[in-house]
Parts: sequence; structure tokens; C-alpha cells
Amino acid sequence: MPTQAERKRAQTRVKPNVVARKSGKRKSSTFGAFTWEVLAFALLIAAASLGYHYFNQDKAAPEAATPAPAKGVTQEDFNAKVKEEAPRAPYTIPDTSAFTVIEIPGKGKGAIATRDIKQGELVLREGPLFTIPKAIKGNPTEPIMQKIIQLTGEEQEAFFNLSYVNFPEHLSPQAHVAQLALAIFQTNAVSTGPEEVGIFPSMARLNHGCSSAFNVVYMWRPEEQSLVVHALKDVKKGEELITTYTNTKKTRDQRRAFLQQHYGFHCTCAVCSLPDDLSKASDERLTTISSLYEKFAAWGREEIDGAEAVEIIRQIWRIEDEEGYTSERGSLSADAAWIAASHSE
Ligand SMILES: [Zn+2]
Repeated sequence: MPTQAERKRAQTRVKPNVVARKSGKRKSSTFGAFTWEVLAFALLIAAASLGYHYFNQDKAAPEAATPAPAKGVTQEDFNAKVKEEAPRAPYTIPDTSAFTVIEIPGKGKGAIATRDIKQGELVLREGPLFTIPKAIKGNPTEPIMQKIIQLTGEEQEAFFNLSYVNFPEHLSPQAHVAQLALAIFQTNAVSTGPEEVGIFPSMARLNHGCSSAFNVVYMWRPEEQSLVVHALKDVKKGEELITTYTNTKKTRDQRRAFLQQHYGFHCTCAVCSLPDDLSKASDERLTTISSLYEKFAAWGREEIDGAEAVEIIRQIWRIEDEEGYTSERGSLSADAAWIAASHSE
């Protein structure tokens, strides 16, 4: 995810040529062993792409080429790999004309609106640089590296320019590319449905705000295979576009602890920066909203009737209004409509 004041970052950005790097000198370190593994994978994938290319050539020349596995790879594994490795969807650089990414004093990089943006307007539509399955058994470094070696030089650069946290302090980012890739992935990955997570280099420049402090929201659209970002409220030219990384119906202390642990920054958003008395009032509203949502869940279990459920939705709406927490308007309206429909008989 985006940069923030206390986020740890590499002083020097690296632009590793991942594949070339793999053919370097063999070292006795884990990384050394890993590089050979990745090199083997790179060769396998190169052979697989070649195989795929041949398979999809003009059917009139079927005998043109029979792809063969690389030495040490069984024909069976090779065939499986060729089948599995469909050409990846190319990454298209999205239209980012609604904002410009600049250094914001004390905050790292951030996205600033280049024009007035109306509530509900589309701010960004971006396909993933790559995705990996959520349910990976064991260390996800290998599947991440598999994806990275298939990227172009510019795409690798876009990836390695992203910020990261939780990179082991005793390691050098330049020398430990796989660990660096893992840290970047974990800091920036966004869910793309129930099964996958992906990297979106432009969207990753949006900083975080809690409760009423964010002005854009993002969602994954499976039918478009894109992440879309819409303005939640009117945004003036020159204002920062801020989204939210987490459900922020928690108290300030809880939110800050979570954000510090997962994203490596101390949140100083407009809500977290409120004076203590106002912050306390905000915390109370957010806690009340959370408990109302728990009560509302009872309707799903048929423990309360439709009238009670609608009353709860009304209360949530009112308190969220007070708090300035407007991002759930859509889902609240949908819930109310659903209740009405369910009780229409
Ligand atoms: Zn905050």
C-alpha cells in the first residue's frame, strides 16, 4: 500500500532484473539456492511459453515444431506446465489523469486531485499487474517470483518501486530480491475476489484515512477484471485522494495498532488527529455502529423481525451521518430494500 510518514522504506530503490540476476554467482546462502530454483523456473516458463506459442500457431503446419521439455524435466511435467501457463493478461497502464503522485511532506508519496472530482465519479480503473491465489500452501515467495519473471522490465520497475514494510533489517534489498518482492507484495496486495490477491501499482499510491477521513473507495469488478476507484464525496482540485485499507469502525488506539502492525505507519489522518475529547466521541460512535451491526446480524438468523431490523439500519444511518462515515450508504440502502422485499408478503 501507499507510503506514509513512519513507513520504513528502502533508501535506494532497486530495479532488479530478476531473471538476469538469477544467473549470477552461486552462493552458499539460501538466496543462492533460491536463485537457481528461480532460474530453473524461468527456463521452464520460457520453454512453456515457446510451447504455447507453437501450439497456437497456424494449424496448417502442425509438424512445424514439437516442443520438448528442458533437460531434467519430465515430458509429463512439461505438458502440464504448458497447459497451465496461458499467456498472462497484459498490464495496461491506466488513465491516472484525475490525480498526480507527489511527495507529501511528512507522509511519503500521495495522490493529489488534478481537477475537481464529483461524488460518485470514477477516479481510476486498473487491471492487476499480476495476481496469485490466496490459498497458497507454504511460502508464497515462489509463486510471486514466478509472476515477476514474466513481467516486462517496466512492469518489474513499477513493482519494485512500491513501498513495503516488514523487510528483515539485517538483509539488503538489493541482494535479497525474493524477500523484497515478498515484502512489497504483502504491503500492497489487494483482494481480487474470494480466491486471489493482486498488485495494482497506481491504486497503491492512495494513502489511508479512517472513518470520515477517506474520500475515495475501491472495489474489485470481476466481470471487468479491474479494480475501480470512485469518489465517495466531492474532492476539490489539489486535495489528496484518500482511501481506507481496513474496516475502521474501531477505536483510534485499535486502528493505530492495526495499521502500525500491518502497514508500518502511525495513522495521523483527520480522524486520528482529532483532539482527545472529539476523538473519544468518534470512538464511541464507531463502537456503537459496530454493536448495531452485530444486532442487525440477528435479523439474518431470524432472531429479530423486519421492523426491528429496519430500525437498526436507521440508527446506523443516523450515527454514521453524525460521524461523517458515508461509505456504507449503498450497502445500508441495499439491506433496507432487502428487508422490505423479504417482508413484503
Ligand atoms: Zn486514522
